[in-house]
Amino acid sequence: MSEIPKAYEPGKVERKWYAFWLEQGYFTPEIDPGKKPFVIIMPPPNVTGELHLGHALTSALEDTMIRWHRMKGEPTLWLPGTDHAGIATQVVVEQKLAKQGLTKNDIGREKFSEMTWEWAKESRKNINYQHQTLGASCDWTRDCFTLDEGPSRAVRTAFVRLYNKGLIYRGERMINWCPRCQTALSDLEVEHKDIIGHLYYIRYPLSNGEGFVTIATTRPETFFGDTAVAVNPEDTRYKNLVGKSVILPIINKEIPIIADEAVDISFGTGALKITPAHDPTDLEVAERHDLPLVNIMNADATMNENASSYQGLERFACRDKVVADLRDKGLLEKTEPYSHSVGHCTRCWTMIEPRVGLQWFVHAQPLAEAAIKAVREGKITIIPEHFTKTYFGWMEDIKDWCISRQLWWGHRIPVWYCQTCNKLTVSVDEPAACQHCGSQQIVQDPDVLDTWFSSGLWTHSTLGWPEDTNDLHYFYPTSVMETGYDILFFWVARMIMLGLEDTGQIPFHTIYLHGLLRDERGEKMSKLRGNIINPIETIGAYGIDALRFALTTGSSPGNDINLGKSKLASSRNFVNKIWNATRFILRSIDAEVIKGKALPTAETEKPQRMEDRWIQSRLNRLISNVAQLMETFQFGEAERQIYDFIWSEFCDWYIEIAKIRLSSNQMTPSPLPFLANTLEKSLRLLHPFMPFITEELWQSLKQRLSNRSQMADSIMIAPYPVADDKAIDPEAERAMSAIIEVVRSIRNARAEHKVKSKEWIEARVYTAELLPAIASQAKAIQTLARVRPLAILNRQEKKPDEEKALVLVLREAEVVLPWAGMADQPAAKKHLIRERDATEARIAQIDARLKDNTFLNKAPPHIIEGEKQKLSGLEDKLKRLRLELSQLG
Ligand SMILES: [Zn+2]
Ligand SMILES: [Zn+2]
Repeated sequence: MSEIPKAYEPGKVERKWYAFWLEQGYFTPEIDPGKKPFVIIMPPPNVTGELHLGHALTSALEDTMIRWHRMKGEPTLWLPGTDHAGIATQVVVEQKLAKQGLTKNDIGREKFSEMTWEWAKESRKNINYQHQTLGASCDWTRDCFTLDEGPSRAVRTAFVRLYNKGLIYRGERMINWCPRCQTALSDLEVEHKDIIGHLYYIRYPLSNGEGFVTIATTRPETFFGDTAVAVNPEDTRYKNLVGKSVILPIINKEIPIIADEAVDISFGTGALKITPAHDPTDLEVAERHDLPLVNIMNADATMNENASSYQGLERFACRDKVVADLRDKGLLEKTEPYSHSVGHCTRCWTMIEPRVGLQWFVHAQPLAEAAIKAVREGKITIIPEHFTKTYFGWMEDIKDWCISRQLWWGHRIPVWYCQTCNKLTVSVDEPAACQHCGSQQIVQDPDVLDTWFSSGLWTHSTLGWPEDTNDLHYFYPTSVMETGYDILFFWVARMIMLGLEDTGQIPFHTIYLHGLLRDERGEKMSKLRGNIINPIETIGAYGIDALRFALTTGSSPGNDINLGKSKLASSRNFVNKIWNATRFILRSIDAEVIKGKALPTAETEKPQRMEDRWIQSRLNRLISNVAQLMETFQFGEAERQIYDFIWSEFCDWYIEIAKIRLSSNQMTPSPLPFLANTLEKSLRLLHPFMPFITEELWQSLKQRLSNRSQMADSIMIAPYPVADDKAIDPEAERAMSAIIEVVRSIRNARAEHKVKSKEWIEARVYTAELLPAIASQAKAIQTLARVRPLAILNRQEKKPDEEKALVLVLREAEVVLPWAGMADQPAAKKHLIRERDATEARIAQIDARLKDNTFLNKAPPHIIEGEKQKLSGLEDKLKRLRLELSQLG
């Protein structure tokens, strides 16, 4: 048997096993009508996306669920894919063209599409490779792209069905418009930033010549589009002006003064200009008062013919000129600096121009009603639960969804306009002629659909809908939708609406939302802060398993996750700990085999010795906890408990005790079967979290087990451990925890009194019922605490203070360490006195602070609480120091 290498080399091991799993076809499930499948459809990363830690987190969590269910024997499908990402991709390709001094118009729609496809193909390859690097066990044979023929047909079908039901319509609505990208944007593609601008106070002369109304605005250049001035009906300042009119300066146009409750009395002068074609709130006011809409800008945000002589000026240049001209006319009362939030295009950071445009919309409210019902009736569960409220809030207030985009990259809107009869033909397949008059003079709508329209169909379009495929039949509804909480509304809610609408069934029964990644100090990661962790470098330095473990351990659904070097390093230490422990166990097995002994099996006989009973009991308790935690989506906690068990109970205690047994040559009974069994099950428990190292070590262990022919070919298809309640042994657990406490307390005392690690000290342990159990571990206590001679005695035998000794009072025992054997007494005494005096001084200090009223009044409660805790800690310490001093005499 070849010995495993001294150090773990993640890169080599990761490549080897991923290739093996792929080759064996483990990632592709078999359709078995007798079994309920477990299905996750991967949130498709944008083709523009480079691998970042967010992907690594999503992938780690989903792979954990998938591997766990697969090991439970369920047909398990994790379907991967990528999103064409509309505007984001188009901008990238446009930037490439710009470097050659070209625009998309120079090369035309067809050539542009070709270029974009090429780029997307390359990018998809990279993204898939990156997922494979992360160990994602998804079924690559079902890999999907939003622009593939299947999903594209689904998009057209969904569009036509909604149109025929009257749930898709074309209309003039307020949209977020990017003048640079020249397209409508979804709310998600707009980021609001605070900017410092000005509030301009402008006088509008009353048409009856009796003075002015002064309005305050941040956008004086839009006054050409004003169709009213509005005041609040409760505002006494303007009561007698409502119903009268003002004359717009420069263009001398008369507009009415109206009263509307939406006007905030405290803002500016209390009088607002109403520009319905360029402001969403103004549009609502205009609809209530039946005001006309006047569009004053071109698509590129230059002024149009409605801006009189200002036509052709860019919007901000126009602002400067308008302000100067109003000032000249004495109509600019004043300006003041003003900070406000303004939407920007997230692709090019151009300021959004809200405008009314002719666009396609989904009438979302009826779809939302069904989606609300599905969650309210418990058919879909959101984890963590508190997001349910957010979800209802959004869905109950849903607005119609603008789905047309003035882009070239995406799903073309399946609508053809007839140039003969002017009617629309809406069709899944390209029509040869107008449906109404048969004319062949038809032109397809030039726009494409919002990316979220195709990703909203993702759970069913990837499984073959609208065809009634075997996949759709078997794998839909899917099981869990796992994603970041930031896209619950933009994406998850849309999948629920469209999934229900298209298939009549919910798309998934559980939504699992993870938090956002932050740095070690809890700060958001950003290029500006310079705290971004590069995943490729991280994988190189720590390995995938350590990265995955650091990302997810201790995390809980919906809560943000802090990640930094120390967490990564501690995960890597864990990987090394498991590696070294396994290496020890394998070498011990090999040593026995050389001596002619048979290989152990991983199936143990009933344990006789106390520590064997104990490790079996702890292991089975862990298995049962983990099952319960995984069922309730508490993966981070499950991971933490597995970590604690392996690190502490198994490695630090059981293996250390086993080492003593193995080296003493008194091998009856041998601990090897229990070492092998605990290791084998621990590796299986850990596999969904750390797939690579567990496979590597499990395979090496398997070769050394006599029952290997009955074991699976890979840990990833071996069964997930199931707890054996019969192994739970409270008696052994109680005794071992007493023994651990004895060893720990002696080690602490040694460290505190600076006893050299090689030195032996004398110890006596007094105990009651546990005497036989503790006595059976005398050798372990001796070795692990380095105590000699060691006496384990009945409590009743203890004589009162017969000598100078340190006494440690524990839950189940009392440990007596004679000073004579442990420390240089005068020096120890001096040290203790110094410590005592310093502690008394600190206590006096804090005590005084806590009695000081100025401090108590000024300090925030958590600081005061902290001081109180410090005080009580110091008082405990003082008590202990005094006791030790008295024991020292
Ligand atoms: Zn833009
Ligand atoms: Zn026609």
